[in-house]
Amino acid sequence: MASTKNERTFIMVKPDGVQRGVVGDVIHRFEQRGYKLVALKMLQAPRALLESHYEEHKGKKFYEILLAYIGSGPVVAMVWEGLNAVSVGRKMLGATDPAKSEPGTIRGDFGIVTGRNIVHGSDSETSAQREIALWFKPDEISQWTHTAEQWIYE
Ligand code: GDP
Ligand code: MG
Repeated sequence: MASTKNERTFIMVKPDGVQRGVVGDVIHRFEQRGYKLVALKMLQAPRALLESHYEEHKGKKFYEILLAYIGSGPVVAMVWEGLNAVSVGRKMLGATDPAKSEPGTIRGDFGIVTGRNIVHGSDSETSAQREIALWFKPDEISQWTHTAEQWIYE
């Protein structure tokens, strides 16, 4: 699919990110970059939701550890919108293993180990669409216009 300003990605601050007090920082980075927040909620995710969200990892060695970690406390689930939101969002997060993440990325600035890597971000447009539909009802997503849009995009 061609990139558009309407591309959406699912970003989630994990329970360790909430406990570490970086919710505001994660939001700030996406706002500062020029992305538009179109949905946000805090919840303690039920197991069934996490099983769907992480279905690609079912059967892996870390699967149960991962579900216990993400279900251990509230998360902040968000949808961010803008040009290349998925790929730029992944760059802003850094590598899965924070030890391999560049400083300046969220994981590279706040994490040390893979099992406490602060944030989730969709890895493709297909994943983003699937994840957004899983975590948000259509009426929980807002449509609004950035007043700064002409200064963010040429
Ligand atoms: P992501 O797309 O960068 O989040 O990485 P993956 O899709 O490969 O893995 C999903 C999540 O599972 C990661 O963000 C980690 O929280 C966790 N994870 C992945 N690999 C491991 C591992 O080897 N050990 C542990 N404890 N957690 C892992
Ligand atoms: Mg992934």
